[in-house]
Amino acid sequence: MKAAASTLMILATTLASGCATNKITGRTQAMIVSDESAAQQSAEAYTQLISESAQKRALDDDTYQLSRVQSITKPLVQQAIKMRPDVQNWKWEVHILKSSEVNAWCMAGGKMAVYTGLLQKIQPTDDELAAIMGHEISHALLSHQAEKLSRAQMQRAGLTAGVLAGALFGVNLGSIASVADSVATVGLQLPNSRDAESEADTVGIELAARAGFNPEASVTLWEKMIKVGGGGAPEWLSTHPNPESRIAAMKVKSKQLMLVYEAVKQGKPVPDIQTTLRPQQPTATAPRPR
Ligand SMILES: [Zn+2]
Repeated sequence: MKAAASTLMILATTLASGCATNKITGRTQAMIVSDESAAQQSAEAYTQLISESAQKRALDDDTYQLSRVQSITKPLVQQAIKMRPDVQNWKWEVHILKSSEVNAWCMAGGKMAVYTGLLQKIQPTDDELAAIMGHEISHALLSHQAEKLSRAQMQRAGLTAGVLAGALFGVNLGSIASVADSVATVGLQLPNSRDAESEADTVGIELAARAGFNPEASVTLWEKMIKVGGGGAPEWLSTHPNPESRIAAMKVKSKQLMLVYEAVKQGKPVPDIQTTLRPQQPTATAPRPR
């Protein structure tokens, strides 16, 4: 009883000291691990992963695909910077990793990877690849990895080491490199909350449209994912549940953003359409028109 009370105390203190309101979404996030710390840990894990993959000849073996992926992520990152200017300082980077897994990700700090399994099995169009990378970049932009690491630390405070180890390491940590013990990688492999997934869907589709990619591709991408999944879901789907309901939401959002996409394609002024995520600016202090 005493132990439970002190655990609650620790959790309460942690929560009170570590909450932050996300500037893009307005949602309060438990952030006892900072974005900077998550980015730093991620950079170390990424460097290790890239060098191990290079040694195994499992890195960027298709120069055409690499330059394609780079040219698709570049305008997405430019849009990400417009949405959150401080990420301009991140050392954005993307590589293609040889793996049969259908997967792609973006770590805190802008370190990205696309797996050959995704390129080969999904055969994404440029717009579909932009949809998936827009979604992944949004997870980083919205500090979701720091949020997951924070959650893991809070669990650490509340659970015994054994239970925590099971919760963290029971997940499939992938087979491409031996960075399973990296905190940053664990953070990457933990599933996001439903809120976080919904946010990444919404912001991702907007990034893609503003970068000149057809937002409707987010719908066809999900449909392809389900098709390829068949009996066993691809890795990306296993961390991204409820595809059917997400396709329905995606159809609505992509329709809203078609005006943005078309304006970008035609070089016209981009209408100020955004999905409903961002907090409304307070109007009370706005000067009255004279
Ligand atoms: Zn996601």
